[in-house]
Amino acid sequence: MKVFTKRHEIEAFLNDQRSQGMEIGFVPTMGALHEGHLSLIAYALQQTDISVCSIFVNPTQFNDKADLERYPRMPEKDLAMLAEAGCQVVFLPEVEEIYPEPDLRRFSFGLLDEVLEGARRPGHFNGVAQVVSIFFDIVKPDRAFFGSKDYQQVMVIKELVRQLQLDIEIVSCPILREADGLAMSSRNMLLTGAERKAATLIPDVLAMSRQMKVKGASIRVIRQSVMNILAKDPLYKLDYFEICDGETLKAMDTWDDAAKPVALIACFVGKIRLIDNLVY
Ligand code: AMP
Repeated sequence: MKVFTKRHEIEAFLNDQRSQGMEIGFVPTMGALHEGHLSLIAYALQQTDISVCSIFVNPTQFNDKADLERYPRMPEKDLAMLAEAGCQVVFLPEVEEIYPEPDLRRFSFGLLDEVLEGARRPGHFNGVAQVVSIFFDIVKPDRAFFGSKDYQQVMVIKELVRQLQLDIEIVSCPILREADGLAMSSRNMLLTGAERKAATLIPDVLAMSRQMKVKGASIRVIRQSVMNILAKDPLYKLDYFEICDGETLKAMDTWDDAAKPVALIACFVGKIRLIDNLVY
């Protein structure tokens, strides 16, 4: 496994691979890797010749300084996991290597940036677009693999690729979950024992909402039930629970299965903010 920290070095290496006809797969991450990340590497290994993983805690996408500071960092463990998974190339740059000067670009994603995560985390998707566009420019992948755990992020990245007219296929991959249903996340390790136990309520309410839909409940009744359940547990603070059109993220008031409804949730468990979603 080759590990690069300098932009010009990984560019030279990948240019050489590309000139030999190798297809490049790319998995951007912020490290503190888990099986969810490794599943993306596995897709990249299956579908391309060279798998590149970046590990970079991108400061411009954190709107909460405390969240950035407490974000887990464990590069050595990450490298061991990536080597074990068969990843061929890792890019592990310092912040100055990616942002030698402040990135003043402003992206515009319309509704995608105004709802859900976009509304609650101002500037978040702009930061994501900044870093991903820089990484795409460095790696120039044929395919890039993203987890549908970050449902809205995948939509933003697809829109970014469309706006910048990049010839990169964005592959959306399934959510990996712990045995009790909690979506894997680097932030899960920040939960206390009690919070970690309580966190299973997130996939539980998503599953319940699906059952209620099957039984004919309205969107309004489902939303109210989810809010009531979470309000009862003092460890929780619900940020949002929305049922949206799966292709536009417009909030739905009435069912329309042609719109591929998806339930999206964000809530604080203690101080830690977790997100999850379920495509009905
Ligand atoms: P992160 O390191 O959290 O920025 O995530 C890097 C990539 O891994 C993103 O495309 C995430 O959507 C994806 N990812 C995170 N958690 C999971 C999961 N539980 N299952 C599948 N992909 C995931």
